[in-house]
Amino acid sequence: MAGFHTHITVSTALGAGMAWLGHEHYHLGWSACAVAGGLCSVGGMMPDLDSDSGVPARETIGFAAAVVPMLLSTRLQQQYGFDVESLFLFGAPIYLFIRFGLGTLFKIFTVHRGMFHSLPAAAIAGMVVYLLCDHGASFVRVFKACGMVVGFLSHLLLDEIWSIQVRNGTARVKNSFGTAMKFFGQSAPANAMCYATLILLGLAVLQEQPMPKSMPVATPQPAFDAPEFEPPRTVIVPPERRPGYDGL
Ligand SMILES: [Zn+2]
Repeated sequence: MAGFHTHITVSTALGAGMAWLGHEHYHLGWSACAVAGGLCSVGGMMPDLDSDSGVPARETIGFAAAVVPMLLSTRLQQQYGFDVESLFLFGAPIYLFIRFGLGTLFKIFTVHRGMFHSLPAAAIAGMVVYLLCDHGASFVRVFKACGMVVGFLSHLLLDEIWSIQVRNGTARVKNSFGTAMKFFGQSAPANAMCYATLILLGLAVLQEQPMPKSMPVATPQPAFDAPEFEPPRTVIVPPERRPGYDGL
């Protein structure tokens, strides 16, 4: 499989390309493009969360713990009116759960190259980002989710490419070939859990409503066919000339 540095280099390059595309082609703001590019970069590390060995999983968990509350803050402010103190009170437990709880859960419930290295997992990661970022159906939100999916897919693709060895002009396919870009793994419970999560998140995404562009303005309507209203005419009468000032 490709190493940590290869994954992060490729996904970061793709993220930079996405940020440029978003700004130049779709005319999105630089901050939204930078977030999408950053998510693409992080997406390149995500599948190796199922790896029990050291640095990649630990770094990705630490980064996710810091970033998730920040991504969520916009949604909490816009949709639920959270102030800064509420954001802190809500964000701190999320940080602690991801930083210290999620890694342990991954160690217990995942195996390397299981369903976390799969195409439905890429879709799940994209939908999680979609639900965390902002609120209301909007193109910017989809673009950020696409950043994560592109990064995630780049990791799967590199893992597949690295499972083909070329030596002395002959290509040899390793046993790991086909274990990254797959729809189903070997464990039936893991497949069921993955697709159940995919369906649940898909339903949650479909629940999102488009954001209103402006506050609705109530226009008063007449309750019956009233005759057209004519404003009273104001007749301006010039003052009479005062005889005492004549001739001045
Ligand atoms: Zn991998």
